[in-house]
Amino acid sequence: MPTSDGNGARPEIDVTKPHPARVYDWMLGGKDNYLVDEELARQMLAFDPSIPLMARANRAFMHRSTRWLAEQGVRQFLDIGTGIPTEPNLHQIAQSVAPDARIVYCDNDPIVLAHADALMRGTAEGALEFVRADAREIDTVFHEAAKTLDFDRPMAVSLIALLHFVTDEGDADHLVNRVKEILSPGSYLVLSHVTADFHAEEDVRRAKEVAKSRGYNAALRTRDRIERFFDGLGLVDPGLVLAEDWHPEPDGTNAHRGNLNSSTYVGVARRA
Ligand code: SAH
Repeated sequence: MPTSDGNGARPEIDVTKPHPARVYDWMLGGKDNYLVDEELARQMLAFDPSIPLMARANRAFMHRSTRWLAEQGVRQFLDIGTGIPTEPNLHQIAQSVAPDARIVYCDNDPIVLAHADALMRGTAEGALEFVRADAREIDTVFHEAAKTLDFDRPMAVSLIALLHFVTDEGDADHLVNRVKEILSPGSYLVLSHVTADFHAEEDVRRAKEVAKSRGYNAALRTRDRIERFFDGLGLVDPGLVLAEDWHPEPDGTNAHRGNLNSSTYVGVARRA
């Protein structure tokens, strides 16, 4: 699969600092992570045992929302903050419903790029491309994605478990506002975001300190703040809810576990 990073250079993988994609991979039970990632993941787990549940509930939301969108007729997907491939990936779900679906993945982590190159294959009828870019430089992402996707037609742009890594409020707003500006009528924004709404302030402060000491920052925004990202679009049923509550599987696979929940708000919104 052709990849692009703007200047064609193959970037270095930094194994001295934990990285979101690899920490998340560890949480999902994956093997594509380094000791620094595992150490941070274990430290975070000591503060909050619900983190693996968070990761699984978020990933399951990606599965269900992608299927739902493909069933609504969406044939173009721009997935920003793709993560290390963990089957099924978004393109596999979309193309299992619609083999002609066209997908562009975007991430800024070289390890994601390396795995994507090696592992991801799309259908012959559809398209699958990968852009290596920083989501905060969103116009570069659009420029690259436009080689594969027709921005004049409906598409789904997904920011799944991405925005809590975009810690600067101005950057986050710029990114989301630009996405909303380019969406043509009938397009969708898919978003999931970790929150600290269910945790004690002191625990959050300490967890953030540990993460920060390892050069890893996250913005755990409130429900109200996350809802504002959808301003101007219409949230589809059931609105902004916890990941496990968005069109849950009838068999209860994604149900709440006792008093633990996913601490992850999710929503899908449509541009009229
Ligand atoms: N969307 C996937 C993976 C979430 S992990 C899922 O929900 O399962 C978050 C991903 O966002 C990681 O792969 C990380 O590398 C990527 N990411 C974080 N900040 C980014 C940025 N500024 N630009 C592009 N990708 C980013």
